[in-house]
Amino acid sequence: MSKIQFESTESRLTILEPSKEFAEGLHTVVIRKDPLLGDTSVYNPFLKDKARLFFGENDAQLLRHLIESSGSTCFFCGEGVAKNTPKYPPALVPDGRLQVGEAILFPNLFSIAKYHAITALGRAHFLALSEFTPQLLFGGLSVNQEFLKAVYRDDQTILFAIVCANYLFPAGASLVHPHMQTLVSPVSHSYHNRLMAACRDYYQKEDSAYHEDLIAVEKEIGTRYIAQMGRWHWIAAFSPIGSNEVMAIHEHESDFAELTMEDIGALSYGISRVLHCYGSLGYLSFNYALYSSKKLAREEGQRSIIKIITRQNLYPNYRNDDYFLQKLLQSELIITLPEELTLKMRRFFSPECT
Ligand SMILES: [Zn+2]
Repeated sequence: MSKIQFESTESRLTILEPSKEFAEGLHTVVIRKDPLLGDTSVYNPFLKDKARLFFGENDAQLLRHLIESSGSTCFFCGEGVAKNTPKYPPALVPDGRLQVGEAILFPNLFSIAKYHAITALGRAHFLALSEFTPQLLFGGLSVNQEFLKAVYRDDQTILFAIVCANYLFPAGASLVHPHMQTLVSPVSHSYHNRLMAACRDYYQKEDSAYHEDLIAVEKEIGTRYIAQMGRWHWIAAFSPIGSNEVMAIHEHESDFAELTMEDIGALSYGISRVLHCYGSLGYLSFNYALYSSKKLAREEGQRSIIKIITRQNLYPNYRNDDYFLQKLLQSELIITLPEELTLKMRRFFSPECT
């Protein structure tokens, strides 16, 4: 028996349906559990047909208005970065800000970690998801790696880093302009902490790294394994923690600072593929987070992983997709099954798709 178990529980229920003159309708609810953390997600096949009620289409006029009205006052556009954004002290970053390609990194004025960097990804104020090119993402990830290395050199207390993004207001972004945020800290955040603790426990019990075993078993099952790009393995999460969750696992490293240029290039390409696919499915807003722990933790079965999810689309009076289920029960609603998402994603990872 595999060391990793994919547990799901199906319940059947009867409802007298008004649309069928109160005849009996048989419904199904499936609860899935993440094999490592036990986090639950809920799938009701009937909701699939109602997806547009929950996730309406983006309103082009509203979107245009948001882009135009925010463009003239954007801190990240044109000369705004040099004039309006803060700098790091020279002891940490000699020039105050870091730049790779179009990406420019500077401190957040309102930090939520010991080091909280913002990266304006490029010159464009707005990007469709198909316009998040590997080159732009490579610049963003590279400049953040340079920053993490600078912090490591300067501060021995640092153990954890999260490279993340909110795109557009439904995802929590306060600015339209595409950007990344990186939190570097001596203390791990709740989810990252749970993830590392579970990996440590698994390693001690099974004498192998959970994510290495997950790659092997997902490859064998095949229905959620999307593609391998360099040393990254892209997989649709069995029990997602956000809509349309796709994750990539690095097969060896736990530390973002230890990734090679090839690793960052392959990761950039993969993220661009995922976003391109989301765009083709009608989504626009997303979050991602890359979890990194310093190299010393690698011996305890840690791996660097990135998780990407879609968020609610932009239209007037949209319904927030983060309700009691997510906020208070820490569970997620599955609209598109991970196995179906995998088939859609694979097309965007094929060599013919550019
Ligand atoms: Zn801008």
